[in-house]
Amino acid sequence: MSYKIPEDELMLPGHVACPGCAAPQAMRLVLKALGKNTVLIIPASCWSIIAGPYPYSAVDVPLLHTAFETGGAVAAGVKAGLEMMGLPDTTVLTFAGDGGTFDIGFQSLSGAVERNEDFLYVCYDNEAYMNTGIQRSSATPWGAWTTTTPVRHPKDQPKKDIVAIMAAHRIPYTATATVGYPEDLVRKVEKAKGIRGSKFLHVLAPCPSGWKSEPAQTVYISRLAVRSRVFPLYEVEQGERWNITVWPDRPIPVRDYLRTQGRFQHLTDKDIQYIQEYVDAAWEELVAKTEHSLHETR
Ligand code: SF4
Repeated sequence: MSYKIPEDELMLPGHVACPGCAAPQAMRLVLKALGKNTVLIIPASCWSIIAGPYPYSAVDVPLLHTAFETGGAVAAGVKAGLEMMGLPDTTVLTFAGDGGTFDIGFQSLSGAVERNEDFLYVCYDNEAYMNTGIQRSSATPWGAWTTTTPVRHPKDQPKKDIVAIMAAHRIPYTATATVGYPEDLVRKVEKAKGIRGSKFLHVLAPCPSGWKSEPAQTVYISRLAVRSRVFPLYEVEQGERWNITVWPDRPIPVRDYLRTQGRFQHLTDKDIQYIQEYVDAAWEELVAKTEHSLHETR
């Protein structure tokens, strides 16, 4: 894939994320794609800390910290305010973690996108409540260790399919992305910026602290997630046109992805086989939706 990433930097030096955290990498790429005319809303999450204490800031755009459950509602209100001020072209960006999206913030997100409010919602998904001590969220994958799903009782529910849920709202644009494929991520944000209405981007964001992974391997792990098809990269327009944007040419076993993270080290061969079968079935379903969409648009 050949795609130029904008050179402008709207992330400032001096953020306070853990070493190797994907969350600042994701923010950096998203802001590059959106540009300076952006208002940023951050519900409670690791990014509430990463941005730095007032009056300092790790981003060069206006920033509004807000309560855990209000990412969608605040975005709708800020957008209405900007329009009243004669600033309809300013992009409103909510940047929330998985806890603030899949769980606590879901009602305000669902309400806002059901009304097709004009904003971009980016969920950086580190698959647990990392900021408060690595507790399980509904984004935590099956079999993972967290502090509330200990090794002897790992999570035994699958990860919530947030993209399918957002697509079911029939919003104009929904997509997945990860920092391991920055061109794909930036292209999707630029595409979302050009669309009026609700846009949702689900970004897989490895967390070395909670995943028990090496900080230097964050980008590598992000790429393995895609190459193993654990986290496929795709987009959905109007809830009905599905399109895989990165096809792994030589898929790798999920085992190669899982073994990079201490949170999966307790899994047995049988557990890994179960995950492999789940991933294979989900991939086949996604391919079928993409092929059906291609057929429909011919
Ligand atoms: S706890 Fe995880 S997500 Fe939060 S700042 Fe540290 S590495 Fe990033």
